[in-house]
Amino acid sequence: MDVRREVEEIVGARWVVEGEDAALFGFDAFTAVKRRPRLVALPADEEQTVRLIALLYRSCTPMVFRGSGTSLSGSTVALTGEEVVVSLTRLNRVYSCEGLEIEVGPGLANVLVTRHAPHDLFYAPDPSSYSVCSIGGNVSHDSGGIHVPKYGSTFNSVVKLRVALCDGSVEDVGGTPYFNGANIFVGSEGSLGAVLRATLRLHPRPETTRTVLGAFQDVASAARAVSAIYEEGVIPAAVEMMDRNSIDVVEKSRYKAGYPDCAALLLVECDGYTPQVEEEVRRVRLVFECLGGEVMVPENPAESSRLWLGRKGAFPAMGVVSPAYLTLDSIVPRTELASVLEEVGRIAERYGVMVANVFHAADGNLHPLIPYNPESPKSLENALRAGWEIVEASMRCGGVPSGEHGVGIEKARFMHQYYSQSELEVLWRIKRAFDPDRLLNPYKMLYENPPETGDRVVSLLYTKPWEAE
Ligand SMILES: Cc1cc2nc3c(=O)[nH]c(=O)nc-3n(C[C@H](O)[C@H](O)[C@H](O)COP(=O)(O)OP(=O)(O)OC[C@H]3O[C@@H](n4cnc5c(N)ncnc54)[C@H](O)[C@@H]3O)c2cc1C
Repeated sequence: MDVRREVEEIVGARWVVEGEDAALFGFDAFTAVKRRPRLVALPADEEQTVRLIALLYRSCTPMVFRGSGTSLSGSTVALTGEEVVVSLTRLNRVYSCEGLEIEVGPGLANVLVTRHAPHDLFYAPDPSSYSVCSIGGNVSHDSGGIHVPKYGSTFNSVVKLRVALCDGSVEDVGGTPYFNGANIFVGSEGSLGAVLRATLRLHPRPETTRTVLGAFQDVASAARAVSAIYEEGVIPAAVEMMDRNSIDVVEKSRYKAGYPDCAALLLVECDGYTPQVEEEVRRVRLVFECLGGEVMVPENPAESSRLWLGRKGAFPAMGVVSPAYLTLDSIVPRTELASVLEEVGRIAERYGVMVANVFHAADGNLHPLIPYNPESPKSLENALRAGWEIVEASMRCGGVPSGEHGVGIEKARFMHQYYSQSELEVLWRIKRAFDPDRLLNPYKMLYENPPETGDRVVSLLYTKPWEAE
């Protein structure tokens, strides 16, 4: 069977990428591992996609589904080099928008969902990559963003999905409040099937949105303020924290926001009806002042958006420091933020790496950014080892390895540490039911033996922490 020729017959020669050009699809925003896939196909619509998947299934060809390629965990990398990458970016139609629901193709960029919604509604999940990342990727990583504290992650906004299973059969799942078939696909990283359509929940636009910035001279007080906001009965739309390193990086970049000189700052957003928002702002201000914070409440939307653009630009701003960096994303209980951040400082010192912390503080979702020199294997290894220690410190205090960036390649080594044997067996049963021949995104999430790639970084990433390296 000439798979290449048949792929071309389905999608057309123009939409097949191979050779040197395929290297462009050989990496994502997890910069540590790159691998050129054998072939990339970009189907135009659902019909081509299911024919393509059925062909790959019949020919026992492993496949990796891909959206915009902004994954921070390496989950789009074709590790064995045998996989065909199926890019779903061309499936970017808006099918319908009725009531509080919108039905879209997986290739649509997150930012465009709200743009296609009626002006009094919006789509809440907004990863900082929202201008480019796709809905298919968001569903498959259960992506979050700054508005998780109030509106939840992608999981809370998925109503129904149309999926292509590994043999190309199509199922519409979800839409029920119980035994909801869509739920199992959210966060499954393309390892159970391809998302062909998503029906998403929209929210009414809040009447008023206000920002409060708190600048603290010590990290512990900023961390304490996060819990104190909730103790005051406020459910904010967003609470983000930035430490001195991340503030410095942003201020040196084109995302410069004019942040105050401080050890850590909190950016809080309150939204809803005007009187309620005013009361929440009053309470947040009080919390910050009681904990020694300097408070700033922007009076106009332009000033607020400048502060938020600085936060949202913090990842790309790291380019000022280094062309490559790792972004971990473990979750810790809110009450443990101060002690874990102290531990992060000690780990950074031990490995001689810089760590910039800029993260979703309300859900305890740390984002330590660790720059490294891509030309130096030692520098990458130090960054990786520092990152692993941060994940382990998070797990020791009751946290989880990944909050929103997915397991991918980056956190594969923690699956056997975080889950018990019996939990892993349940996950394997699900995987086998959907993908008996293990053709879908191999070595992501679940694997028995590490992939044999001959790449030292890959074997480090797949070494179980308790095994000798
Ligand atoms: C600067 C920057 C900021 C970021 N900020 C955030 C943030 O605030 N919050 C957050 O959660 N994430 C964030 N991310 C991570 C990333 O943007 C998200 O994980 C996003 O959802 C990935 O979408 P994508 O379209 O790029 O997917 P890809 O990277 O292409 O794919 C991600 C995963 O989804 C699978 N997949 C993609 N499409 C489909 C489909 N149609 N069917 C089945 N599987 C599919 C892939 O196989 C892969 O496993 C950030 C990334 C960057 C670079």
